[in-house]
Amino acid sequence: MLQSIVIIGAGQAGFQTAASLRQDGFGGSITLIDGEPGMPYQRPPLSKAYLLGKTDVTGLQFRPEKFFADNRIDLVCGNATAIDRTNRRVTVKDTQALPYDHLVLATGAHNRALPVPGADLDGVFGLKNLADADALAARLARARDVIVAGAGFIGLEFAAVAAMKGKRVHVVELADRPMARAVSPETAAFFVDAHRAWGVKLDFGQGLARIEGGADGVSGVELTNGTRLAADLVLFGIGVLPNQSIAAEAGLDIENGIRVDPFLVTSDERISAIGDCAMFPSQHAGAAIRLESVQNAADQGRTVAARLTGKRAPYSAVPWFWTDQGDLKLQMVGLSQGHDAAVRLGDPDARSFSVLLFHRGRLIAVESVNRPGDFMTARKILAGRESPRPEEAAADGFDLRAWMAANN
Ligand SMILES: Cc1cc2nc3c(=O)[nH]c(=O)nc-3n(C[C@H](O)[C@H](O)[C@H](O)COP(=O)(O)OP(=O)(O)OC[C@H]3O[C@@H](n4cnc5c(N)ncnc54)[C@H](O)[C@@H]3O)c2cc1C
Repeated sequence: MLQSIVIIGAGQAGFQTAASLRQDGFGGSITLIDGEPGMPYQRPPLSKAYLLGKTDVTGLQFRPEKFFADNRIDLVCGNATAIDRTNRRVTVKDTQALPYDHLVLATGAHNRALPVPGADLDGVFGLKNLADADALAARLARARDVIVAGAGFIGLEFAAVAAMKGKRVHVVELADRPMARAVSPETAAFFVDAHRAWGVKLDFGQGLARIEGGADGVSGVELTNGTRLAADLVLFGIGVLPNQSIAAEAGLDIENGIRVDPFLVTSDERISAIGDCAMFPSQHAGAAIRLESVQNAADQGRTVAARLTGKRAPYSAVPWFWTDQGDLKLQMVGLSQGHDAAVRLGDPDARSFSVLLFHRGRLIAVESVNRPGDFMTARKILAGRESPRPEEAAADGFDLRAWMAANN
């Protein structure tokens, strides 16, 4: 019988685990540890609504303080520094030792560092937490020339925000297209056009060679092709790495993330790992992967809470993700890597379309721009057994919802 559950990391995955444990009837103690000050909060608005001033710190919080008190979830502020697996204790701030019957690692990920000279100059930012967002917002208010290194989700979301605020924005990306790891070339091309229409400059196949500046901070950048550009703010978003040192030091199996089995249990059965920090065997990818998304973090939290309260099931949720850039909401479901056919529904000129991606005749992913109905229907289709064929989808008048109604 479990009496005490300790969770390291009060982000999306850790918070969800704590909330779901209580919802599922767990009556023992729950301790949620986080190194960041303040109430647990969600990160996605940091590069969107928060920077635009459309939400404040309170709006970011998962729940008000009262929720944690009412649900007897103890919040501990401080970095967990060690796990003693023999005595089942977590050390916080190198002093406090918290005993556990089960431990959940929900430590998230940290930004990959920008490996160029000048990356430590004032005015160069990553964006991972609230403190980053506050510092970035203050700098952005007085910046004129903004360089974004990396055309991933965060880079492009920030580029759209900066352009909306009237800044001159230049995005530099080493790959040949934006969001290359996650979206199809069709959708990527649409977003390139959209950003250019907002006045954002984009350069592909280019990296930053150096960042220039002095005591006043960044003043410019040099690209790998020798081009020099003025800059008073540089934002880099070049990927993240899992926070797994505490797991490695405790002797747990790690790879690109803390290794877990289909039930999200680590190499120690008393310890689970979830969210951005966990590498899990994915039914959808047919391989062990690590995902960085709210859906994955929250659903893995629910899966662990269910297991710890007696409903043991493997993690099998269909992956989904969204990004907001300017007036465009892109929603993705499934994993598109390895697709061999693409069919478009709707009209990019009307800024509302979906791209259906197939592998060997089977639907594996759908990308929807301003078409939430397709996204919702695709989530149901991908969770089921039946799949439309590419020829069917390409026929005039094909409609996902009608197909779903006729085939389920
Ligand atoms: C700016 C931004 C925008 C995003 N936008 C989207 C989006 O639009 N859609 C989407 O699906 N996803 C988005 N994401 C990704 C999403 O936020 C993450 O995938 C999600 O938060 C992962 O949840 P997590 O609990 O695994 O990690 P996190 O939410 O990062 O939480 C991990 C927590 O663990 C704490 N921690 C780590 N190590 C320790 C330790 N040793 N001791 C104590 N505490 C520790 C950290 O302080 C942190 O609070 C975005 C992320 C960022 C940064």
